[in-house]
Amino acid sequence: MPALFEPPVRCALVDGSSPSREVIVSIRFIAASQLPTPWATFMLHGFQEETTGKEHVVLTLGDVTTEEPVLARVHSECLTGDALFSMRCDCGYQLQEALKRIADEGRGALLYLRQEGRGIGLLNKIRAYALQDEGADTVEANEQLGFNADQRRYDICVPMLEHLGIGSLKLMTNNPRKVEALVQDGVNIRERLAITTGRNPFNEHYLTTKVGKLGHMMQLDDFTPASDVDIERDA
Ligand SMILES: [Zn+2]
Repeated sequence: MPALFEPPVRCALVDGSSPSREVIVSIRFIAASQLPTPWATFMLHGFQEETTGKEHVVLTLGDVTTEEPVLARVHSECLTGDALFSMRCDCGYQLQEALKRIADEGRGALLYLRQEGRGIGLLNKIRAYALQDEGADTVEANEQLGFNADQRRYDICVPMLEHLGIGSLKLMTNNPRKVEALVQDGVNIRERLAITTGRNPFNEHYLTTKVGKLGHMMQLDDFTPASDVDIERDA
């Protein structure tokens, strides 16, 4: 297990939330294994943030170290959508679609970041959902709880991509702020690819808010209805 004794990958970055303070992001590679899924057998790479102990994973397929930009998704954890089949958002559908597309291409990477609920955590997300049940939209709910609309950070991607030898990305996202944040942190994004899937009666308002308030580059008409998405998940 030589990987355990490798020095952590270090990366100095400026934390956007407090510009005067420089934050050292230190991520340690822990282990890699195969991960068979309904679409392909990926390699699963596990990392740990040294300061917080937070665990993140990257799934890769094929040789991602060559010069050709890597088809990629940077996906933030959504337990309710990714694992519990929630139709409140489009996360689970996007996760599945991204893995399918990477499998179709035979090469790619999915960075799975453990920052639940746009960074507010699982229980606060449930609090936000409760406010939404009373009529708030996703942005208002976060703000009523004292959080920014989006608290996610992407600086942790840089050392993981470096470890994996990934030079540049063809990124599947509708979120221009994610592209901007990644580019600011030094990630080379060569192309943005839309990923519009999983629209359903329960997330229509949520998707409309993403377009209106969070500036997502998508039209609701572009979306594949959830009923067209065949749900094939590992049990
Ligand atoms: Zn979600």
